[in-house]
Formats: sequence, C-alpha cells, structure tokens
Amino acid sequence: MSTFRIIECSGTPRECGRQTGEQLRAEIREHLELGPEVGPHIPDDQWRPRRATYVARMKEAFAEYLEELEGVAEGADLPLNDIHRINMMMWPDTLRLPDGDGCTNIAFTAGPDGPVWGKNNDGFDPANARPACARIVRPNKGIPSVTFTFCGTIAMSDGMNAEGLALGHSSVGSKFQQSDHHMPIRPWSYKGLQTCRTTAEFVAHMASKPTRGKGYSMVVLDKHGSACSLEAPCPLLQVRAPEPGAAWILCVNAYLLPPLKEADQRTVECKNDALARAELLKRELANSESLSEARMRELLSLHGEKTGVCRHWDREIMNTDYSMIGLPAQGKALVAPGHPCHTEYRELTP
Ligand SMILES: [Zn+2]
Repeated sequence: MSTFRIIECSGTPRECGRQTGEQLRAEIREHLELGPEVGPHIPDDQWRPRRATYVARMKEAFAEYLEELEGVAEGADLPLNDIHRINMMMWPDTLRLPDGDGCTNIAFTAGPDGPVWGKNNDGFDPANARPACARIVRPNKGIPSVTFTFCGTIAMSDGMNAEGLALGHSSVGSKFQQSDHHMPIRPWSYKGLQTCRTTAEFVAHMASKPTRGKGYSMVVLDKHGSACSLEAPCPLLQVRAPEPGAAWILCVNAYLLPPLKEADQRTVECKNDALARAELLKRELANSESLSEARMRELLSLHGEKTGVCRHWDREIMNTDYSMIGLPAQGKALVAPGHPCHTEYRELTP
C-alpha cells in the first residue's frame, strides 16, 4: 500500500500550514522527488517566470491560502518555491491521455443514512504513487473540514466540512484558453469548503470567478440532500442537476452535459473508458433498492470487465489508491487507504 497519513491542524492559516509541514516532512519530500507525471507538473524554469502573476492573483482573492503555504514551507523546512510548485499546479494546455484516466464520484441525495458522498481516488503505478493524506483542518476563522489530498498540497477539491458540505472531483480537461490571471480552481474550491454551508452557496462561490486548471467534473452535496455536478472545463463552469426522479448523481472523467462533450481534449478511447464506468454505475444504481452507506461501499468496491470503480493495477490502466465517503447529515467522513474492496474504512470527524 502507498503512504496515507491522517493529520490534524488548527489555528491561523500559517499555524495550520506549519503543523501540516511539520507532520508531513518526509512525505512532502517524497512527493517533490517524483517525476513530472505525478510530482510537480511543470519544470522549474518554466514555472519561475509565471510565479509572480500567480501569487499576485492569489493575494487579492485568497491571501490566507498563501499564508498557509508559507506555513507548510516553514514547518517542512523546505523552500517556499517547492511548496508553491506542488500547490499552484499547472498542466500543459493539452491533456490527451491515450487510454483512460481515473477517479469516480457518486452522491446519494437521500437514503436511510441521509445523503452520502463517495469517491475513489485513482492513480497510476502504485509503486510510484504520490503520498496522500487526510487533513482535518480547524481554522481560527472559517468552517472546519477534512480534506483528502497529496502530502504538501493543501487543496485538492475532495472533502467535507463541519456544516455537511461534501465535494469530490474527477479530472477531465479543457480545450479553452486560460490565463495565469484566472483563479486556480483547486484553491478556490478549498476556500469554498471553508466558507460555504450548502450546495447552492458553493455553486455561487465557484461561479463567481473564472478559474484555471486541468478541467474537472465535480459532485457537490450538502446535508439537506441538495446535489449537483459542476462541469468545469476551465475557465468555463456549468451546473448539471441530477436526472429527473434520480436520488443520485455521479461524475467520471468526461463531461456529461451535451454542449460540453467535446470541451475536454480527451481521446475517444480515454472518454469511452470513463463513459463505460458511468454506464456500469447507472445500471447498478437502477437496481439499488436502498441508497445507504453500505450500498455506497458496494458501489465503490465494484469491479468491471474493462473498467471498474475499484481499479487494480494488474488488470487496469489505473489503480485505486484510496477511497472516501462523506456522511453530511451525520458530520462524519470515512477513508479507506487502499482498495475499498478489501481495506477497512476509518472514521474521521471534521
Ligand atoms: Zn477492488
């Protein structure tokens, strides 16, 4: 199994960052040493001339985030530039994976356990996986949350806050032009997790600024059972509602809103892999009597013929590194640091 840590931090943004850096010193170094496929995505010489614009943009809209990153650098005893590189991520403008990609999100809007969010986080060769963690963050200002991310990276758009807002993302891509002056989407969603109590508030927050980033599909769910998927080929953002009569919504590595079908720059093979996963789940959901936490665990453990939800490197092109569940009405989250088909979930309280 690859590294998975559970840590807690509290206080000002700088104090939260410092405690994170201190607790994850070894894992952040391990993350930084990985190659461009899974480590810092942009060579340092290309990153440095663009860094000032990024930092200035961030200072205007979310200065606390920069303070938290400074804290991480201090706590981990690493140059701030290294921490910036694994946080303000940049991808090349094209994202053409030949075979497929990973990460599946499911949300139930109602059931015996209240609303339920579930996500499997998929990566490549587990021997070369990024060290990951659950961070329970209790900031001096803002809503406490548990976020699931890679060690040293503060914002990953997966997690749940103490008000019962849960969100998870799947990578998709974007063919639209983006500017370094746009707000990086992952930090912006982290701000949303610290400030929003409901799905409606989070949508309004995310739609308030054009973003930049790889391009994602997200599910958003709150404790009242309000759910949607944000389809965000950055800088564009559109909202997809659950299908009529459905008490669930899901997202994979493809945009499902018809006008956005080709907004991703994905190859046909890659998109078909994601759509096959969505179809597999839709069939299962049509046969689900009860949308319970137990049913969510079953769905996250599903193996498929070509592509499953729980993915194993020896038979698929992606590997499920860890699995997350959020129970917004109960105020608790669960994480299985490995394949959910045989790894026990541990309970966390934001
Ligand atoms: Zn499995």
